Amino acid sequence: MAKKPPVYKNYIAGEWVACESGKTFANVNPADTNDIIGYFQDSGPSDVNAAVSAAKKAYEKWRLVPAPKRAEMVMELGLWLKKNKEKLAHDATREMGKVLKETRGDVQEGIDMALFCFGEGRRMYGITTPAELPNKFAMTVREPLGVCSLITPWNFPMAIPTWKMMPALVCGNTVVIKPASLTPLTVTNLVKGAEEVGFPKGVVNMVTGGGRNVGTPMCEHPDVALVSFTGSTSVGRQINTSCAKDFKRVGLEMGGKNAVIVMDDADLDLALEGVLWGAFGTTGQRCTATSRCLVHRKVYAKFLQMLEKRAKALKVGNGLDESVEMGPAVDANQLKTDLEYIEIGKKEGATLVTGGKRLTGAKHKNGFFIEPTIFGDVNAKMRIFREEIFGPVLSVVPFRTFEEAIALQNNCLYGLSGSIYTNDVNKAFAAMRDIHTGLCYINAPTIGAENHLPFGGMKQTGNGHREGGKEALDLFSEWKAIYVDFSGRLQKAQIDTDSIVKVGD
Ligand code: NAD
Repeated sequence: MAKKPPVYKNYIAGEWVACESGKTFANVNPADTNDIIGYFQDSGPSDVNAAVSAAKKAYEKWRLVPAPKRAEMVMELGLWLKKNKEKLAHDATREMGKVLKETRGDVQEGIDMALFCFGEGRRMYGITTPAELPNKFAMTVREPLGVCSLITPWNFPMAIPTWKMMPALVCGNTVVIKPASLTPLTVTNLVKGAEEVGFPKGVVNMVTGGGRNVGTPMCEHPDVALVSFTGSTSVGRQINTSCAKDFKRVGLEMGGKNAVIVMDDADLDLALEGVLWGAFGTTGQRCTATSRCLVHRKVYAKFLQMLEKRAKALKVGNGLDESVEMGPAVDANQLKTDLEYIEIGKKEGATLVTGGKRLTGAKHKNGFFIEPTIFGDVNAKMRIFREEIFGPVLSVVPFRTFEEAIALQNNCLYGLSGSIYTNDVNKAFAAMRDIHTGLCYINAPTIGAENHLPFGGMKQTGNGHREGGKEALDLFSEWKAIYVDFSGRLQKAQIDTDSIVKVGD
């Protein structure tokens, strides 16, 4: 008899607990829908209340733990991830489908983020600066905010939660995290790690469940000081609006529609590898995925042929098979969206170069598999040029001049990642200046960010905050300016300054 899938619980105040309603939801493997990974708590507002109140209580002690000591715990969690990397990657592939090579990278991002934040625990530099009055001292320090709600998507089930959790904790905040309902196992694993390495009760809390029942109360709760969200622009807009009324701090990382420019002087073989990896890695389900490829007319026909040949040969299948190059769409909805956009592309008059269909053969029939798809002759008016698809659908657009390519690159609602392949150093520098995105790559695809640099986008991708790098600390801490007056008398800034120095005395 088949083993019954396990039931996983919420983690609140250091205990694994069922949600109040007793309801659960199933987590299903998108490569094989007969494989039920487990049942997770279908929580509601009262469970969020319990988690926030545990986090609020724990905050009073946690904020007083010296930052280097908080950072040591974060490092321990990073080392725990390292020790368990293979199992964690396996679980992540099973629940969201991308190939093992990529989920290993996903876990590695968590390790890197933990170790980076470990170092930041001994820095967190403020400034000391001269005061304008005598016998007075001036400095700045970072302060934690309090309880942070962390709301995460499914496409980087380990990396994104760690991008939020590690800096939040090092800064002295406590957290309530909600995984996406498609990938609750990976965050459950991460939180188990936090428990095993000994974070005090209530510092890390997790509530699983839907956006409306768990995400919304996590944003609206009056004891939540900050909401850090990664997901779609439409949900981000709702969260921003709801948090505005209480002036809650909000960090938003949202959609993308990223483009690679291929100049006529580019190394086409190099560009080919980059575009394939950018477009079809993670089945195109990356906020930084390459979904537009802008190609100089002089090399357009040749490059399109090169792309077609390689995309056709990509092996699509279960990501747990090491020989597979592209996994399934994450669920039936995403597959439907991909297929709908393919129909839209055809109707708009783009040329379907390769792909376009769901895969339904013996190896694929139980999963949400789709062919790597390329459209040629796309123009800037088409919806497949403008809208985020979040699937393995690449739009290829011809251009004549560098200026036209930059204009096409920037003709976008979003501003996450941009790239150019060129061997002309002048064009490379002009592109670095003119591409309007938070990440910019020269001779590399739109994906491949490193943890110690700020990550985030312009325009409708974000709201100006960054994750990663020391810039992440700016989201998860407040600046306090401190003045110490040791003159023993009242000194008035801006008023008593005239009499301090009389030049020539
Ligand atoms: P989503 O917006 O549907 O969901 C993200 C999270 O928000 C989930 O945990 C979901 O349950 C929760 N949620 C949904 N409705 C909510 C509400 N009303 N209030 C509060 N929380 C709510 O996104 P997704 O489908 O999980 O992820 C795909 C999207 O994420 C894409 O648009 C992609 O570009 C974006 N993304 C952006 C980045 C980035 O760093 N810019 C990274 C990864 C993914």
